[in-house]
Amino acid sequence: MKTINKYIIALFLFWLSTFAWSEDVSIHLKWYHKFQFAGYYAAIKQGYFKEEGYNVTLVEGGPDNSHVHQLMNHFSQYAVVGSESLNALALDSPIVIVASFFQHTPEVLMTLKSNNIKNISQLKGKNIMLADASISGQMRAMLAKSGVTTNLYKSSAYDGDVQKLIDGSVLAMYGYISNEPYQLQQLGYEVDIFSPRDSGLNFYGDNLATTKTELENNPKRLSSIRRAVIRGWNYAIEYPEEMIDYILQLKTNNPLPFDKNHQLYEAKETIKLIDANLFPIGHSSPDRWAAMLDTFNDVTGNQAVFSEGTIYNEFHRDTTWIQRLLYSSLIAIAVILALYLWNRTLRIRLKQAVNNLQKVAFEDPLTGMKNRSAMIVHIEDCRNRNKDDRYIAILDICALQHINRTMGFIKADLLIRNIANSISDCEFKNSQSYSLYGGKFAIIAQATKQEDFTKKINRLIKLIAESNDHVSLHSGAIKLNLTLDNSALTTRVELALQYAKETNDPYLVYFSKSFSEDAEARNALLEEVKQGINKQQFIAYYQPKIEYKSGRVSGIEALARWDHPKKGILGPGVFLPEVERDAELMLQFERHLIEHILSNANTIIDYFSENPGFRISINLSSIKFNQANLTSELLGVCKLHNVKPKYIEFELTESSMLANLDAAIKTSNELQSAGFHVALDDFGTGYSSLAYIQNLPVNIIKLDYSFVKKIPDDVRSSYVVEHIISLAHKLGLTIVAEGVEKKRQLDYLGDLNVDLIQGFYFHKPMDIERLLKLPMIETDF
Ligand code: C2E
Ligand code: CA
Ligand code: CA
Repeated sequence: MKTINKYIIALFLFWLSTFAWSEDVSIHLKWYHKFQFAGYYAAIKQGYFKEEGYNVTLVEGGPDNSHVHQLMNHFSQYAVVGSESLNALALDSPIVIVASFFQHTPEVLMTLKSNNIKNISQLKGKNIMLADASISGQMRAMLAKSGVTTNLYKSSAYDGDVQKLIDGSVLAMYGYISNEPYQLQQLGYEVDIFSPRDSGLNFYGDNLATTKTELENNPKRLSSIRRAVIRGWNYAIEYPEEMIDYILQLKTNNPLPFDKNHQLYEAKETIKLIDANLFPIGHSSPDRWAAMLDTFNDVTGNQAVFSEGTIYNEFHRDTTWIQRLLYSSLIAIAVILALYLWNRTLRIRLKQAVNNLQKVAFEDPLTGMKNRSAMIVHIEDCRNRNKDDRYIAILDICALQHINRTMGFIKADLLIRNIANSISDCEFKNSQSYSLYGGKFAIIAQATKQEDFTKKINRLIKLIAESNDHVSLHSGAIKLNLTLDNSALTTRVELALQYAKETNDPYLVYFSKSFSEDAEARNALLEEVKQGINKQQFIAYYQPKIEYKSGRVSGIEALARWDHPKKGILGPGVFLPEVERDAELMLQFERHLIEHILSNANTIIDYFSENPGFRISINLSSIKFNQANLTSELLGVCKLHNVKPKYIEFELTESSMLANLDAAIKTSNELQSAGFHVALDDFGTGYSSLAYIQNLPVNIIKLDYSFVKKIPDDVRSSYVVEHIISLAHKLGLTIVAEGVEKKRQLDYLGDLNVDLIQGFYFHKPMDIERLLKLPMIETDF
């Protein structure tokens, strides 16, 4: 009996050891060490792979080292692959996409700014350097969408040499947004970039991939590696500079290693491609892959068919593994019973091992709470038992990124743990709470009435705030509608959360159908705006500013209008607020509009040349105002159209200047040193204290319409206006009154010596044709 006992103990210890010791795994990178793979280095550096029980080696890629082959030949179990893997994803492919990290395509077509290519269709008949169509086909699809089909241009074989663009042997070339544009910038060339995104194409960039063999044989390892890399990317986008320092000390085979500045550039672009604010890190949609494959087939004439299992399904796989786990637990329990007769200690240790296993599968390591997989299992359970009197709420810590940045990662983690404790401590009847990634929590609870659930969650949020230094949370909820699949359920509750965030609602917000309609309408509008930019539908209207004492048109303000093909001329209120929520698009929009305004500037300036000091004002959003290299870009556009900066004035709102005062002062000084004028727009709406304008380097103040509207009848507004005007004059600033509609307002402001008047009293904004017929001087007042 004793020998049998020893034998069993030895076997059992061996089994346990498979959990205690790290297994070796290798991941093949797509290219030389650089920020493109920062999430993987972070998972090593922060010990995320180790915590999962794996010893991971990252194999550096390069031109002679095909990562897809490495994977197929099982040299590495995992590899980073881009959209070029599309041809390898067809039916019966051995490849599985485990997670997609770059939600947007990094592929772009570049041309030198000096080539003056405004539109892809201008590339017809020209020489373009493109990668082989099998590299994804996206570029060719983009060209084809603008009517530039393969037979309409010459294509040079791709060698990545930017010199060919410089010496003119090709007019445009293929590249990566994070690389070649930087190289060209360093060589002193400005580039125009055409992204497939502008043509409605958007392939995934880098993905983590493995083989079907790995999926079949090692599902647990797969979800561990996936989880660790997701955590790695979370870390890397939070601490890019720290990761760059780490990458710079790695041994590399790259003959021309990226320097720190290049890495910083790449980090900035990479973080945009990951777009963690919009997409859960690692999210990969089979539908999107199928659409990509369609585009690919169209271009290459291939017949590749997408097989469903090719995209790893986190939840589906997790549950099969759970089933296996449950089976093995059952067997283990049977074994325990048998062993119980032999050895009591052995029974306890085995039970511990099973518990540990369950823990790894269903527990969030940071908080010790149940994790997302456990939540999905719970929802499945409700589905199986037809329990539809359940509600699900998601709670999200406000501005966690900001907290991470200001308090540091460790303190932020501590905060997440404390909140987790508060939630766990007050679990109410028939409720279950979960910790999801990135400071998000979920609660599923039974309730007969929606109000009951609402009350409980709102009370919980209040309690969390009280016991955690007034931290605020946003929350969204939905009734557990069992006719919806898990993905539709989670999307809806996330939409409710997003609405709560957007409206900054501190209370629980329930999903409403209008949210998904709103989201769809918003996306459709943004899509239409993108097309509108390409089709040059955005133009400027101009509104004159009249000098009160002489009646002269002393300047004009350019105001954006959308010359919509179906709806006619639309004001900025219809589209600008939505566009501003997408910083990237807003920059693109403003670049386009400024370009448009400056291309007409000389004609306007010539027309008004008799009026001394005549200027064109252009509005800058805070996004544009905070853009790096703003002044040099603006000078570049002026130079291109031969416009002198002294004729241009930029209007900045109070709130965009005050958001970061030091930076605003610096940029404003730069603009003035370059010869531009700077005006403070909407003055009086932001901060009531007048004193701070002394510190702002501006030449002009625009008194906001909200005051002008109320004078002279409203005593308070009149008092404020008088003071602003007198202070501005003491500081030697020019003052413009906006929104003057009535004679009484005009007279009142004139008596106070306002310098310039802008408003419907004189003119509404008008198109350039009408502007160029205007008299130089207004006499009618
Ligand atoms: P803003 O810069 O304060 O522009 C003045 C707005 O007041 C314009 O509205 C103008 O049409 C309107 N306005 C002028 N006089 C009167 C008046 O007597 N009565 C009334 N009721 N309104 C008057 P618009 O064109 O709709 O523009 C709205 C805002 O959109 C602008 O406010 C500006 O913040 C933004 N915007 C317009 N064009 C651009 C642009 O090209 N870039 C950026 N970043 N923002 C722009
Ligand atoms: Ca303005
Ligand atoms: Ca204004």
